[in-house]
Amino acid sequence: MRLVSSGTEATMSAIRLARGFTQRTKVIKFAGCYHGHVDSLLASAGSGLATFALPDTPGVTGAQAGDTIVLPYNDLDAVHAAFAAHPGEIACVITEASPGNMGVVPPLPGFNQGLKDACAANGALYVSDEVMTGFRTSRAGWYGVDGVRPDLMTFGKVMGGGFPAAAFGGRADVMAHLAPAGPVYQAGTLSGNPVATAAGLAQLRLLDDAAYEKVNAVSAQIQALVAEALAKEGVAHTLQNASNMFSVFFTDRPVRSYEDAKAQESFRFTAFFHSLLENGVYLPPSAFESWFVSTAHDERAVQRIADALPAAARAAAEATA
Ligand SMILES: *Cc1c(COP(=O)(O)O)cnc(C)c1O
Repeated sequence: MRLVSSGTEATMSAIRLARGFTQRTKVIKFAGCYHGHVDSLLASAGSGLATFALPDTPGVTGAQAGDTIVLPYNDLDAVHAAFAAHPGEIACVITEASPGNMGVVPPLPGFNQGLKDACAANGALYVSDEVMTGFRTSRAGWYGVDGVRPDLMTFGKVMGGGFPAAAFGGRADVMAHLAPAGPVYQAGTLSGNPVATAAGLAQLRLLDDAAYEKVNAVSAQIQALVAEALAKEGVAHTLQNASNMFSVFFTDRPVRSYEDAKAQESFRFTAFFHSLLENGVYLPPSAFESWFVSTAHDERAVQRIADALPAAARAAAEATA
């Protein structure tokens, strides 16, 4: 592992390392996956960019984005076709371990393993971005759920306990290419600084089995309340979860890709969001973000959500595009 200060630094450094290790230039990412504000990865990046419908952002040049191949999520055929079209050119595939930046869209069974196999067969690295899922979906992140072992992994968010701590790491033979042992440069003045590292460690030590059980149970409870409220008003919706991460899509079809996510009636989310906010419940402010629960969500908090949901479901039902 190497410590850095933000998730963006972790993915940026992992990509540089993958390129240095393989001596190749191209990177595959998936539409709707967000990997921080790395220039080359700000293509179809979900999250805030999805909310404001920015296809890309000013300030990223064609050259920076030009080595990025964006493919539809959960589509292994597209991955195989990209490897066939660019033999010997693809350094790595980077993916959210289980995406939460287009709403919660888990990998279909076998997708992550398929990515790993395709990378192995083509001399590329499989980079699993666990900045969101790490230490959240289980003590061992999404790796603790699906067990597919990546070549490189990235962490951030939860691992800092509210302070700027992040990390990337993986196969020892790949990490050995980093400076000062190897030729791929990486450094950071505040990397692994004692305050953030101590805060993160303290939190991770507190996250015992009971904490995960509590978070999982509260997550299931809130999901059930949301489903019940929306069903009562006849609002078409699909709730999807990846362990305790979840989100609601205003569509009656399963959401497997960014295209599917964008096809929902997101104007209903706007009405739903503002009604809840007026009643003191603050959701993530986008139809393309995961809902997170924490150990601070006690029975009183859940009751407040339950009380606010009927009006919000009505607002969603009455909303017009
Ligand atoms: C938030 C996020 C990042 C970027 O992390 P920052 O600390 O905001 O730079 C990278 N990848 C994923 C999956 C994220 O959710």
